Amino acid sequence: MEINNEAFRDRPLNLDEAGNTKRILAKQPKGKWYTRRSIFAWFCILFLVLAPIIKINGNPLMMLDIVNRKFSLFGNLFFAQDTFILALIMLVSVVFIVLFTVIYGRLWCGWACPQTIFLEMIYRRIEYLFEGNPRNNTNKEKNHFFVFRKIGKHISFIIVSFIITNVFLMWFTGPDKLLEIISSPISENQLGFIFMVGISIFYYLVYAFIREQICTVFCPYGRLQGVLLDSKSISVIYDFKRGEPRGRKNGGDCIDCGQCIAVCPTGIDIKNGSQYECINCTACIDECNNVMEKIKKPGNLIRFDSYNGIETGKRSNKNARTYAYSAVLIILIFVLGFTVSKRTSVDVTINRMPGTMCQLVDSTSCSNIYIVKVFNKTNIPKKLTFKLMDIQHGALDFTTDITELDGGKAIESVLMIKLKKQELTGRTTDLKIGIYDADSYISTSSINFIGPQQ
Ligand code: SF4
Ligand code: SF4
Repeated sequence: MEINNEAFRDRPLNLDEAGNTKRILAKQPKGKWYTRRSIFAWFCILFLVLAPIIKINGNPLMMLDIVNRKFSLFGNLFFAQDTFILALIMLVSVVFIVLFTVIYGRLWCGWACPQTIFLEMIYRRIEYLFEGNPRNNTNKEKNHFFVFRKIGKHISFIIVSFIITNVFLMWFTGPDKLLEIISSPISENQLGFIFMVGISIFYYLVYAFIREQICTVFCPYGRLQGVLLDSKSISVIYDFKRGEPRGRKNGGDCIDCGQCIAVCPTGIDIKNGSQYECINCTACIDECNNVMEKIKKPGNLIRFDSYNGIETGKRSNKNARTYAYSAVLIILIFVLGFTVSKRTSVDVTINRMPGTMCQLVDSTSCSNIYIVKVFNKTNIPKKLTFKLMDIQHGALDFTTDITELDGGKAIESVLMIKLKKQELTGRTTDLKIGIYDADSYISTSSINFIGPQQ
């Protein structure tokens, strides 16, 4: 492919030679991909707003209460004690993101990243409303009400930023606490108020001024594209075989109209090949398809495909690697789901009290002493019972009553286990203690009981 302007190799197109920002005013896309993206984006926004409000088993669908180290994921409560599962979730997420990117490119950025969703679906639309659709003969910037339009736009941006801040805060505090913070006098919640105003200002600055630079300059995930993508990765790509030589009279299907650049939110020219600034938003696919329709040429000159697919002329949005990596992703999700489903509602650890050995109670029985720690990982109070399994002649004595335990609470007690000597199988005897909530079985703890020295 012959490239005339090589400046895109030196710097992002939203920066000039001196490194100053060049404002990108992207035209609003129109087409089937934009419609699909809008539907998906509004679904994501709905999820973002409702996830901390909707409750499953009395727990929020999603909540990340970092202060109290309590996390609710799809209605399942996780505490600091579940670090293993949380670490597994993070590990699976990272592997998932890497594999997903290797196969499907930067789909996340254009379709599901909150930065893109808010910018394209809310802020940009507010801007179109006040200032018109740039480069589409409806630009209202230069008319008489230009100042009022700017003021209206920025006031709307500030209001939306405040709302978004509150939605995000709700993910960390829950709706009730957020309502409490909002409704109580500022003097009672000075720190919360300062935090809220600070984040709102940050969002306003990001969406009013910084915009696509978050994706092209700051986002580390965007920077990883160079190592994650290869010639088989599927991404938004220009069919240079079909399009070149571009220009109305040069024979290729691309008429060099520049509409794919006009619509691009990061201001790049996809005809220059795959670039890390491309967020796979598909706006250029829609716009080029509109152009192709007008000039009566087949659509999809820009499309989802791999570099190899364009080179060989075989549409290759599915290949052996796609299936293999997708299978790995499914297995990972299955392992995670299995681990979470095996997680018990009550965490019990029983350890021998340090420095203690077997004590003779009388001529026929002896005892061992243990420390028992119990943690209720749900929001529901538990009525706990502990039973010695497969033992006829034994007893459990707790120094503290641990039978009633409120949701999210931990308790500790000393436990004395007495056994008749006839139950002992040697110097040490394996014991199993069953833990029940009323009559429902929760789990079994295995311990050793040390018998008297012979
Ligand atoms: S919109 Fe299509 S025809 Fe126009 S410049 Fe871009 S690739 Fe070429
Ligand atoms: S090149 Fe196309 S897909 Fe990539 S960011 Fe620009 S408009 Fe979106």
